[in-house]
Amino acid sequence: MPSSTPAAVLTVDLSAIAANYRLLRKRAGKAECAGVVKADAYGLGAAELGPALARAGCLSFFVAQLCEGAALRRVLPKAALIYVLNGLMEQERGVYEAERLTPVLNDLGQVERWSEFCRARGRPLAAALHIDTGMNRLGLPPDELDRLAQEPQRLAGIDLEFVMSHLACADEPAHPLNRKQLIAFRSALKRLPPVRASLAASSGVFLPREFHFDLVRPGVALYGGNPLPGAPNPMAQTVQLHGKILQVRDVDRGETVGYGATHRFARPRRIATVGVGYADGFLRSLSNRGCAVLGGAPAPIVGRVSMDLITVDVSAAPETIAQPGEMVELIGPHRTIDDVAEEAGTVAYEILTSLGPRYARRYIGAPGNE
Ligand SMILES: *Cc1c(COP(=O)(O)O)cnc(C)c1O
Repeated sequence: MPSSTPAAVLTVDLSAIAANYRLLRKRAGKAECAGVVKADAYGLGAAELGPALARAGCLSFFVAQLCEGAALRRVLPKAALIYVLNGLMEQERGVYEAERLTPVLNDLGQVERWSEFCRARGRPLAAALHIDTGMNRLGLPPDELDRLAQEPQRLAGIDLEFVMSHLACADEPAHPLNRKQLIAFRSALKRLPPVRASLAASSGVFLPREFHFDLVRPGVALYGGNPLPGAPNPMAQTVQLHGKILQVRDVDRGETVGYGATHRFARPRRIATVGVGYADGFLRSLSNRGCAVLGGAPAPIVGRVSMDLITVDVSAAPETIAQPGEMVELIGPHRTIDDVAEEAGTVAYEILTSLGPRYARRYIGAPGNE
């Protein structure tokens, strides 16, 4: 449909993502800074963002799923290292080897599986080891760590690159679990072969140096999410979302708008209908809560978010701009992903990973594409 203009445009600034990478790397000091690009780079497009991060100097990448790793392998420079967090299932070993992906081993069964494979191949193959230090999600639980510490030959044949763990409360610097996990991690490292170590994700990069170890693994901060909730965001915004006005109407005092008639107007208003809805990941919880911006003026969302549409009150915007075809800002300089997340009662992670497949996506800030 070459003649139709998109109902919504998602703009991703690759130079802002590169700048965020450099800021995190600086903050990480001597530690290497990896890039977490799971879930299609938090919904922004791993095929574009992976290479942009590689150009910014990122060498190590993390994904959640094996298929994400295989897709990323196609677009990254040959030297890039790709780690798969979800671990090593039966039947997957050959794919890891063929795609040159590195499994993060999460239990003793996976350690045994990889060790056996390495010995059968007659050469060491890279792996990382995840130790659970209190999050109780992925990684070797304490009893398995004990057994591994007592029987280090279980790692025979494996090229163990680093040992990692994950913090549950890094976004609350004063939370006692941070120190507890740090102590548990240090004690685990002492009992394992001397390899590199990794503990910090985005918020952990902003914890004291002792949390950084040799490799940090930021995700959301690369994409502009605030790693320091409650404090000013040190990261650059990377995303803008603009929705097209499809129709504009004047409503009288006492009228309502949208499904369920959940908003009643106390005085005459001008309403614009915009072509973005919950099918695009514009969460229904933003009904009567979220806000757009038009011509620099706030345009609050009135009524329910429906599947393909929202209705916004554009009475404060100049009439020349409140017109069909004009674009309202839903995410952008006036409306950060953290603002939207707060109004939706969620976190920036969910706002990003919900961004819909119907948006026309524009990548700006790439070399030669300024
Ligand atoms: C998702 C994830 C990260 C990145 O987390 P952010 O909070 O987005 O920086 C790092 N490590 C692990 C194990 C993860 O699952």
